[in-house]
Amino acid sequence: MQKNPKQVSVLGLGRMGSALAAAFTRAGYDVTVWNRTPGKAAGFAVLADPAEARGVVVTCLSTCDIQRPVLERLPAGTTLVNLTSGTPAEARATAEWASQHGITYVDGVIMAVPQAIGTPSARLLFAGAETAFAEHRELLEVLGTTTFLGADVGLPAAYDLALLGIMWTTMAGYLHALALVGGEGVAPERFTPVATGWLDAVGANLPRLGEAVASGDYRTEVSSVDINARGLAHLVEASRGLDARVPTAVRELFEQAVANGQGKHGVASVVEVIRQSQGVPQR
Ligand code: NAP
Repeated sequence: MQKNPKQVSVLGLGRMGSALAAAFTRAGYDVTVWNRTPGKAAGFAVLADPAEARGVVVTCLSTCDIQRPVLERLPAGTTLVNLTSGTPAEARATAEWASQHGITYVDGVIMAVPQAIGTPSARLLFAGAETAFAEHRELLEVLGTTTFLGADVGLPAAYDLALLGIMWTTMAGYLHALALVGGEGVAPERFTPVATGWLDAVGANLPRLGEAVASGDYRTEVSSVDINARGLAHLVEASRGLDARVPTAVRELFEQAVANGQGKHGVASVVEVIRQSQGVPQR
């Protein structure tokens, strides 16, 4: 492949950073790398110090707090693309630090495993300096399907954590389900195809829930909080002998919604319990 003269430095060569550096290299970019433990950088042009980074700097370390001393080595004038995971507050603090140090800041998150990097199934979300993002978009698109969320650098981390929250609660629900049906002698391979079909149906309901949350109109002809609270009580009851913390937590949310007078409303109204509102808007 013809060499792309554009330079990119990847700081942090863990599982994810190595995948990023490899994808840039495959795409023909001029890649240099830095890692705390130099041995992991075999096969790449290695920087002795982050201060020597060339071109766009992409960071991918474990956490934002351990990353800061590394960032402090970067010279003013650097364009930094921060792909280290963290919270919205951490991203905003890093952006603030960057602006005080003459560093152009783009924040990003990776919604993928390292093995997917370099394929369209890897999804990356970015925000921050729009001109810098536009300038380096082609480079970043090498990593996967990219979306720019706007100037607010807190948004990629907010989306990341919100989406991971969906993933973790779904996975925990699935594992609880396997334990429950396993107690009835049903093996995972028998139950899983039913579960994946069910998840498609659940996913198809999300836009309806989202519309209700957006409008605050929780009236329903479909399924009330009351009926779901009863179903959750059955699930917890049937989970005796298991660690039932997952369904118990959900049951408690629904019971609180009932206690708040939301029993006749739709399931979307449970968001008002999560928001710690006092009930739902009157209609
Ligand atoms: P990892 O394999 O554990 O690598 C961690 C990296 O951070 C290594 O380069 C490590 O350097 C470096 N590091 C740790 N402590 C350091 C310190 N005190 N000073 C300097 N460098 C330090 O983790 P990873 O899976 O690559 O994850 C990196 C980031 O990508 C995380 O923020 C993670 O949330 C995010 N991410 C990962 C995945 C995934 O599936 N792996 C998916 C999405 C997002 P050493 O080699 O010297 O230890």
